[in-house]
Amino acid sequence: MPSHSVDRWHDLRAQLPERSRLLAVSKGHPATAIQEIAALGQTAFGESRLQEAQRKQAELDDLALNWHFIGRLQSNKVRAVVRAFGVIHSLESWSLAERIARIASEENRSPEVFLQVKLRPDPNKGGWSAAELLDVWPRLRELPALRIRGLMTMAPQGLTSQERHVLFGECAALADRLALPERSMGMSGDWREAVAAGSTWLRLGSALFGPRPPVKDG
Ligand SMILES: *Cc1c(COP(=O)(O)O)cnc(C)c1O
Repeated sequence: MPSHSVDRWHDLRAQLPERSRLLAVSKGHPATAIQEIAALGQTAFGESRLQEAQRKQAELDDLALNWHFIGRLQSNKVRAVVRAFGVIHSLESWSLAERIARIASEENRSPEVFLQVKLRPDPNKGGWSAAELLDVWPRLRELPALRIRGLMTMAPQGLTSQERHVLFGECAALADRLALPERSMGMSGDWREAVAAGSTWLRLGSALFGPRPPVKDG
């Protein structure tokens, strides 16, 4: 019997255009849930809490998976995140960018990063406004060791479908303006609008794995 997440993975994949890749957001779900999806050929997994991710990585070290960090990055965790993740979607400040670049050089890594932008007021989220990003961009692009691949954004709660579509379109236009190829946009509640606006990475958790158990931090 296929599990629900296996069915959902096939279902989602069938609906996504080729340019929109699926990041399976496995935070809150056990290593066994990752194994089931990895067996289908899914290699990109997203986690937002370092210690939880490290535990699962240790359990799954026989699998060749690509780990993407999508959570709020604390400066004291940058070294461990740079070691454990090849891709960081949540780069949201100049000080963090400088720090990641320095530590990545020391660690001989060159993580792929997404610059997180906040195009609507949202007290719960970080990120640059469009104007702030354009201002800091010349300095960001000079940082060694960072491979800046694209922009990441999240829609605040309470927007209509049309408003989300407009918001994602603005993010895509900003990425175009900076000649960045990737757009990490769209979660379980708004991935259709993100796909329509040209998302290249959908970060899907509950639409794939089902509801998350309550958060344990760490
Ligand atoms: C948890 C999380 C997701 C996935 O959320 P779902 O609504 O379960 O798809 C995507 N992006 C970020 C940054 C997250 O923290």
